[in-house]
This record gives sequence, structure tokens and C-alpha cells, in this order.
Amino acid sequence: MKIVDNIDILEIPMKLMGTTGTIYPTVIWDDEHVVLIDAGISDSMPLIKDEMDKAGVSFDKIDTIIVTHQDIDHICGINSIIDELHDVNVLAHTLDKPYIQGEKQILRFKNSNIRERINMLSDDEQRKVLDMIENTSVKVDEDLADDEELDYGGGIVVIHTPGHTPGHICLYHKESKSLIVGDALNIEGDELVVTHREAMSKKELEIIKGWLEKFGEFDIENVIAYHTGLFNDNPNLKIKELSHSI
Ligand SMILES: [Zn+2]
Repeated sequence: MKIVDNIDILEIPMKLMGTTGTIYPTVIWDDEHVVLIDAGISDSMPLIKDEMDKAGVSFDKIDTIIVTHQDIDHICGINSIIDELHDVNVLAHTLDKPYIQGEKQILRFKNSNIRERINMLSDDEQRKVLDMIENTSVKVDEDLADDEELDYGGGIVVIHTPGHTPGHICLYHKESKSLIVGDALNIEGDELVVTHREAMSKKELEIIKGWLEKFGEFDIENVIAYHTGLFNDNPNLKIKELSHSI
């Protein structure tokens, strides 16, 4: 799904933990770089390749992967891409880096008995999930920080958006006026919502309100949510309303 010439939203089917859905990694490129934002799971790579072919941007030219946060459905596809392409820089926020690198256990699975949660899945599916949780560690080459501007595709601004994970980031692509929100926000009907809002403490919601207000500084025509796709129905207003609802 093309927004303007140098950004495309990929549509990748994904089956994970018994649930089938679609994920929407984003690609941004210029004459020198091709940047993939989030990379799906271990079997997503051929699908990413196909979708990039359709978009007219070469998979082989990916030289940078930006990770919005540590969750397995965002990072487990990275190693198969690196195996194929070798020279790929991985960028992530400092606070999620130890989880992505496998130095700390991914927070989503820290206090839960993962085997109990997946015992209704087929043996094959269970093995796939356990393998991803236990064997995925990705070396982060570059730490990202709030407000940093990356020189790709005419400029991408990093916005630190803690909540879903401590080091979650959103990315603002200046040329297309697109805000890539990872799992920080999702689309429900014609509204934007905070992901897992019901599970957030008052303190966490205060922090989220802070970054939602900060989004107001950007002229946003498109919001791209990793699990729900493109939202372009007056995002600035909808973000403002969401922030007021907290
Ligand atoms: Zn996710």
C-alpha cells in the first residue's frame, strides 16, 4: 500500500500462538538506503520479499531495520533477513535493547508460564513459539533516543513512547507526514485507541498522555499501526481526542 513515492506499508499474513492476523511493517527508502520498520516472525521473510517486489523496492537493498519494541512478532524475523543480506544495521531504543539482545527475558513472558499459555496449540505451533522465545536474540547496532532525527527517506523523527514496553518508539516520517506507531496505538472502527489501555496503571496512562500531547507537534496525515494498518481520517484530531479521554 503506497502512501507517497518512498514509503510503503507491507501487508503480511501472520499466524502466531494460534491466532491468524495481518501485520503491517513499513518500508521507507531513498537513493542510498532501504529501511524496514519491524520484521515479523521467523517465517515472514519470503512474504516481506514478495510485498517489497510488488512495491517496487528491492528487498536486497535493505540496509537498516528499525525495531519499534522488543516483542517477538516485531523482532523474530530479523535474523532470517540478516542471514540473507548480511550487512544490515539494527536500530532500537536503549531501554528495549537488552531484551532484544537476549540479555533480559522479554517482558511479555517474564511472569507467565509460557508452556501453560500455549498448551492448546499443536505440537508444531508450540515448538515454533518456544523456539522464537528462547532462541531469538538480535544484536542492536545503534541505540535510538527520543527526539533523534534519522537521515533516511528525507528524515525520520524518533519519539519515545513508553507504555506497551519501556523502550517503545514511534517514528515520524516527514515527507509523507506518517506516524508509525508500532503497537503503541491501534485502530478500532474509526477511532485510535491505546493498546491494552485496560491493563495500564494510572501512572502509565499519565506517561502515555504526555506523548500523545507531543504528537500534536507533528502534522500527521497517516497513522500506521503494526497490527491494524493505515488510519488517515483526521489523525491529529483523533489523537487529541484520545489524549483528552485520559
Ligand atoms: Zn506486536
